[in-house]
This record gives sequence, structure tokens and C-alpha cells, in this order.
Amino acid sequence: MISKILNKVDAPLDENVIDIEKEKLIIAGPCAIESYDQLLETARFIKSKGVKILRGGAYKPRTSPFAFQGMRKEGLEILKAVKKEVGIMAVTEAIDEKSLSEVYEVSDMIQIGSRNMQNFSLLVEAGKQDKPILLKRGMSATIKEWIHAAEYIAKQGNTKIIMCERGIRTFNDYTRNTMDIAAIPIIKQETGLKVIADPSHGTGKRNLILPMSLASLAAGADGLIIEVHPQPEDALSDGDQSLNFEEFSNLISVIKG
Ligand code: PEP
Ligand code: MN
Repeated sequence: MISKILNKVDAPLDENVIDIEKEKLIIAGPCAIESYDQLLETARFIKSKGVKILRGGAYKPRTSPFAFQGMRKEGLEILKAVKKEVGIMAVTEAIDEKSLSEVYEVSDMIQIGSRNMQNFSLLVEAGKQDKPILLKRGMSATIKEWIHAAEYIAKQGNTKIIMCERGIRTFNDYTRNTMDIAAIPIIKQETGLKVIADPSHGTGKRNLILPMSLASLAAGADGLIIEVHPQPEDALSDGDQSLNFEEFSNLISVIKG
């Protein structure tokens, strides 16, 4: 066992929030919150498909400083309003300790993104929260490093951690990342944590999301996080890997069989 503490975690999530034992955890929504109307339309649609958790970044840790950085506080206000209007839970990303406290006020789950998987002070703060943490794998992180990142959170007392395999960097230049499907059963065997898959960032390509969702679920994933946008071609970030409503409907019907 890689971890001395995480293998003892067996019921890490608050069942009132998400009953992951009963059904797969499907999270969907845009990469970034772009406007009230965009988020409202998406939230209503995914809810109609049975999705319980809306995703949408307000703080976006972008590789280039010239890329859209997210609507930040204004985005969180939109998220709060949409959650109330639609009656849906949400996950959104915190990029530092300051945004963590803002996100905490609005979100039911707190995302720590790939670029921050080894932001140790952020992990420690996340460990002091009483809300589930969605811990995405660092794009160049080994399995051990990823588990150690989860331990930073758990060591502070928060064991409500969901691990998210979102693809890693390899020599393959056809897709944005390479999904490490084996990581899914490995994390489950090495820890008591739940694992979900993110085929949107894992592939970067819309047409690969369905097959990689099925592969992840076949490998034992407890759920999926999928980028969905009303008009992917107009998205301010990650449009190429975002499903439109029709494509997402199709994915849900295939998954639910
Ligand atoms: C995201 O979820 O939009 C995101 C930025 O993901 P990652 O941290 O996995 O790149
Ligand atoms: Mn994205």
C-alpha cells in the first residue's frame, strides 16, 4: 500500500450530498462560467438528464496569461444564483487560499485542478474544509504523487476526497492528454477513495468522450465529469472538448443503457 492513511477510508463522502454507492456520480457543465444565461441553460438541461452536480469554473488557471481567466467573483455570484434558480449542486475550482474561501461559500464540492495538485498550502487548506474535494491528477503526476496529494488533504481531517483521472502527458500528440485508465482501478485498490474520470480534458476531443467514458466506467470509475456547453463552437475555453446538448443526451442514454 502506498498510503498509510487512505486505505482506511471507507465511507469518505457525505451521503446526504452524494450517494455514490447507489449510483454513478455524473458531473456536467461548461468548462467556464461565461454568463448567467449560459450557465442557467446548461444547468436546466443537465438537470433534466438526471445530473445532480453542475460544473463550471469561475477561477480558471490557464496556461497562458492571455487566455480567458474566468469571471472570478462575478462567476461565483452567477453560480450561486443558478444553483438557487435550478435547484442543483455544484463543483467549482479554487486556485489559491483566497479563492478557496470564496468557493466554499457557494459550492457543494471544491475542485483542485491539475495545475494545483501539488500546491501544498492549498491542499492543507482544503483539508480543513468540511466539503468534498475533487482532486484532479496533475498532468505529469505519478500515481504516488497523486496519492500523496490526497494525503495532504486527509491528514488535516478531510477524507471526503474524490480522485479524478484527467489524463497525463505522454509522447502521444494526437490527443490533448493520454487517459491513464489503469490509474482508476489502481487508486481504488490502493485507497478507499472514489475515483471519477474526466474524458473531456483526458482527450481534448469531443468525439472521444463517449468511448473513453465507457472505458472508464468499465475500469471501475465511480463517475464522470463531462464538459457540456450550449454552443461549444462559441465557448471561451475548451470548446473542442465540450459536448453540445444533443451529444450529452446521447452519452447519458448510452451510459444508462
Ligand atoms: C477544468 O476542469 O476545466 C480544468 C481546468 O481541468 P484540469 O485541472 O484537469 O486541467
Ligand atoms: Mn476545461
